[in-house]
Amino acid sequence: MKIAIGGLERQMITYESVIRCPNCHGERREAMPPDACRVLYTCTYCGVCLQPKPGDCCVFCSYGSQPCPPIQWERAGGAQEHRE
Ligand SMILES: [Zn+2]
Repeated sequence: MKIAIGGLERQMITYESVIRCPNCHGERREAMPPDACRVLYTCTYCGVCLQPKPGDCCVFCSYGSQPCPPIQWERAGGAQEHRE
């Protein structure tokens, strides 16, 4: 699922991420809040409580197929001055 924000140039942000549990390797598609990081995630398969790895801002960045929206913004060039 992709949602456009503020015009066409923002359309690359994805608000779904497939979280892969490092404990049981179960995968589940989760919706991400557009402007908040999620720092706790309970695996629906094995019940383990996941927390972000050191250096990551949220569980989506650590375990998801997509990083959280704020990170996607940065990588997409949303913050032009941080271009690599
Ligand atoms: Zn699990």
